[in-house]
Amino acid sequence: MSLRIGLVGLGTIARAQHLPAIAATDGVALTAIASRNATLEGVANHRDVTQMLADVDAVSLCTPPQGRFDQAMAVLRAGRHLMLEKPPGATLSEMAVLEAEAARQGVTIHATWHSREAAAVDAARDWLARTRIRAIRIDWREDVRKWHPGQDWIWQPGGLGVFDPGINALSILTALIPDARMVGADLHIPANRQAPIAADLELDAGHPIAAHFNWRVTGGETWQIAFDTDAGAATLSEGGARFTAPGIQTAGENREYARLYARFRDLVAAGDSDCDLAPLRLVADAFLTGRQHAAPAFEDHS
Ligand code: NAP
Repeated sequence: MSLRIGLVGLGTIARAQHLPAIAATDGVALTAIASRNATLEGVANHRDVTQMLADVDAVSLCTPPQGRFDQAMAVLRAGRHLMLEKPPGATLSEMAVLEAEAARQGVTIHATWHSREAAAVDAARDWLARTRIRAIRIDWREDVRKWHPGQDWIWQPGGLGVFDPGINALSILTALIPDARMVGADLHIPANRQAPIAADLELDAGHPIAAHFNWRVTGGETWQIAFDTDAGAATLSEGGARFTAPGIQTAGENREYARLYARFRDLVAAGDSDCDLAPLRLVADAFLTGRQHAAPAFEDHS
């Protein structure tokens, strides 16, 4: 019998990735949605997550991180399994409460990091395990107007600003280098916004790690991590889809969300949870240690 999934928040990522991934994954089935604005044919339609719970075994939250806590608590208290889009919550303290509640209820909580499922991340991990890393340089640059048009929540407290894409880089980094720690950060915050439009990070893992996140770049995106190692230079690029190193060139199709739903299904079947907060912890540390710099006001329209 398939795991009956209800999806909350029918926005950009739910439509682009979650709906097709659920449809393509054995053992899971979309049976309901909860949306303030949208409807979907063929499933039960509700306005609110609490009304949806009777129709589902598990809930996938695709809403912005602010406001997820109440939805997540309602799901867990009803004894339903919970899958969270990245970032899993707005704060580390609310995540601790949610993890404890999931354990109390005996249900699965899965904080997903879709970029860790990119096609070449495993190949990078295997290759790096055989080398000594000297330094890492992360460049995560894109045009916010192209990728987040009209998304007001992303600029509000808890919306993370440029860390919304940047946390994807940190999720890959922490999958490869679990002991990376934040040393310092420079945060560039537009005068009319609450969240950074660019950030420069200094991390350490026994070797230096520099990261540059920038949302003001037009003409194409750069989502790459470059490694200086004793076996030569290596690059994980295209958001983790391509890995190039001496003697290796690998790339593959995007199956990130299908892999996430397969993993969620398997976690539920095994009675396990997976709630790694390392990427969110690094973002929190960047805000804790960050020097703030005033940047020019940003308007969504060009
Ligand atoms: P979005 O396009 O703004 O959609 C979010 C949806 O959540 C809205 O359409 C709305 O759905 C619902 N919602 C509930 N409360 C809301 C509120 N106060 N403000 C705005 N929407 C609210 O955002 P998204 O890009 O899909 O991102 C959602 C989550 O997925 C974020 O955590 C983001 O980091 C993550 N994500 C996004 C992408 C991407 O490329 N966009 C990629 C990976 C992960 P209803 O109208 O149906 O209620």
